[in-house]
Amino acid sequence: ESTYQRYAAKRPVSKRLHMDARSVLPSGTTRSVLDFDPFPFTVASAAGCLLTDVDGHEYLDYLGDYSVGLAGHNPQAVRQAVAAVLDDGWSFGTVAAEEAEVARMLCERFDSLDLVRFTSSGTEANLVAISLALKWSGREKVLVFDGGYHGGFLSFSRGRPSLNVPVDAVLCDYNDLDSVRAAFDQWPEQIGCVLVEPMLGSGGRIQSVPGFLAGLRKICDEQGAVLVFDEVQTSRMSYGGAQGLLGVHPDLTTMGKYLGGGFGFGVVGGAERILLQIARGQQPSYDHSGTFNNNRFSVSASAAMLKSVLTRESLDALFQRGEQLRGQADAQLREYGFQATGWGSLIGIHPTDIPVARTSDLADADRRPIELLFHELLDRGIYTGKSGFVTLSLPQTPETDARFLEALESSLQVVARACR
Ligand code: PLP
Repeated sequence: ESTYQRYAAKRPVSKRLHMDARSVLPSGTTRSVLDFDPFPFTVASAAGCLLTDVDGHEYLDYLGDYSVGLAGHNPQAVRQAVAAVLDDGWSFGTVAAEEAEVARMLCERFDSLDLVRFTSSGTEANLVAISLALKWSGREKVLVFDGGYHGGFLSFSRGRPSLNVPVDAVLCDYNDLDSVRAAFDQWPEQIGCVLVEPMLGSGGRIQSVPGFLAGLRKICDEQGAVLVFDEVQTSRMSYGGAQGLLGVHPDLTTMGKYLGGGFGFGVVGGAERILLQIARGQQPSYDHSGTFNNNRFSVSASAAMLKSVLTRESLDALFQRGEQLRGQADAQLREYGFQATGWGSLIGIHPTDIPVARTSDLADADRRPIELLFHELLDRGIYTGKSGFVTLSLPQTPETDARFLEALESSLQVVARACR
């Protein structure tokens, strides 16, 4: 009996819902990350770090919705904030008090933020950041990195075509300052924006090597380009984000994901001189509008996250637990020719043990073992991302981590036998 047949046999209700969905949704889903074989399971309810599907199976959630779920499911602080919005109303067509409150808390945490602007998603925040940077510099090209993922319309990969918006992108190699210098030499005074993740997230949880981000800071200063850190995933690394931990300050920063407490949210912020381009009365001044920029559910949930959930202590503890779990998982994985990459509470599992500094280092690895590992973990009640994406959340405990490691070990034994 194949893995897929066993998976399907255990999930008749999910299967029926998926088959029905296929008649109205391409591949039966509206998110490409959930487009996996034989079909994604449908969740009935979630609480803390536990998911229950419509066929009655329970899973420990070690995916955390690709890093949205830092606080776990239904956290009390967010529930209260949303309940208050339900009582008071939303979509006013005017401002609500939480907007400036969230902005102030972010500017206090991040040294590089003078002003911020909200959007509906991380993608949109990055689109605004690129536009602001190009207007500011008066240039046209954006320097990005192979494997860099900045949203569904801003995904830069040599190997994977995407529905990108047309940007004049120059593609360099992550962790390779020489490739960046070569690009500035090739297009003098044309690159206005360098857009980089402090760790490649969707590109494989690949950490930046020491000196890479500081090197980009120096090059941007010399060349008159605007440095943008996409911290949609990495801002969870500390109270002041990855930039606070590493001491490298970009001109602009984007955030989103967990910051909206599970509601669609994006933030673009940074230097006053650049952000003021979208303030009325400036010269020149550009309009950046968006009906849901001040979506009250997102902004109120974010205020609750910042006030009650994302404390220095909780973020530091999450980071430390992530470092520990990754170390333990890596030791197990290496026995089978796999490895764990990542930083703090974001982990990548890869079916190769060669050193990984950029996404192309993973290109030749056979994907079959990682798909099988995903299914074997699911079969043992552990939900991760189909491509080896693991993120930590606050409701997990040393006990759930031990269950994760136990399931990993027995899954690896099956994968090793099947893929030998
Ligand atoms: N930037 C990074 C680093 C991301 O990981 C993502 C989403 O995965 C985005 C931007 C896009 O955010 P959203 O999906 O909210 O548009």
